[in-house]
Amino acid sequence: AEPLLDVRDLHVEFRTRDGVAKAVNGVNYTVHAGETLAVLGESGSGKSVTAQAVMGILDVPPGRIAGGEILFKGRDLLKLKEDERRKVRGAEMAMIFQDALSALNPVLSVGEQLGEMFVVHKGMSRKDAKARAVELMDRVRIPAAKERVGQYPHQFSGGMRQRIMIAMALALEPDLIIADEPTTALDVTVQAQVMELLADLQRELHMGLILITHDLGVVADVADTIAVMYAGRIVERAPVHEIYKAPAHPYTKGLLESIPRLDQKGHELYAIKGLPPNLMNIPPGCAFHPRCPMAQDVCRSVVPPLAEVTGVPGNRRSACHFWKETLDAADQ
Ligand code: SF4
Ligand code: MG
Repeated sequence: AEPLLDVRDLHVEFRTRDGVAKAVNGVNYTVHAGETLAVLGESGSGKSVTAQAVMGILDVPPGRIAGGEILFKGRDLLKLKEDERRKVRGAEMAMIFQDALSALNPVLSVGEQLGEMFVVHKGMSRKDAKARAVELMDRVRIPAAKERVGQYPHQFSGGMRQRIMIAMALALEPDLIIADEPTTALDVTVQAQVMELLADLQRELHMGLILITHDLGVVADVADTIAVMYAGRIVERAPVHEIYKAPAHPYTKGLLESIPRLDQKGHELYAIKGLPPNLMNIPPGCAFHPRCPMAQDVCRSVVPPLAEVTGVPGNRRSACHFWKETLDAADQ
């Protein structure tokens, strides 16, 4: 089937006082209806910027889409007029942010904010909209929704506020939801509950879901596919279970080995040495080479393409000249 979302060779730049920061440098990914894609990377890897380009919330200075296509249900979003784009953003795709408290309006009750979606987009009466707001709060499993619909955002816990954000995103039954670090601000138990809710709703409603995270541990149980980003490019893409078994890129391998394990308490954790590159001065060749324990001369001059990884299950790709050696090392 045709993908719901097909991002092709996307480039995004930011003009700064010191020069042009190349935040996204030729990203390709697809999301199908009913699929969950986790986009993983450190801060500055371009994972959020790519998502913001898809949502159409960054094509204003200093950000600039410098090339590529964003096909959504077959239409290139980058060719739509702003008012058409806004319609898509309201009704067909929605975004969930990390910080619910700053995304919600503090002086409106959650019921008014949820209801507003139906009043504005569906022309509903206030009374009907309020009833829909209660339904939505039930749907995201907020206890005593009827009693709490008139309360304000600050009267809810962090986890409950994030559920309200999810309810807002679901209100118009979008085909695609983008969640940018949706649980990062929450404590571990609540993280798992919110993630499970999101995954359940995604399955029920057969939506596409993009989960942006820096934490591989959080998405393991819910993602179908993982795309790992580094310096504005995807460096590895694989079905989630395959990538855990055997990463085909040294950067992914480093990320996996950095997940704290309960059974290895006191064990020295492998953390990837060094820092992510300055996006105004990305290293030539493979951008990861200054930090890569496997780097060779070729890595310093030749950009590795996102090549097909053969001989393993699933549709996999890696942007490493030595993906084969990396896979083999994981086997031992
Ligand atoms: Fe390391 Fe070279 Fe592979 Fe880049 S291309 S990840 S530097 S081995
Ligand atoms: Mg971010």
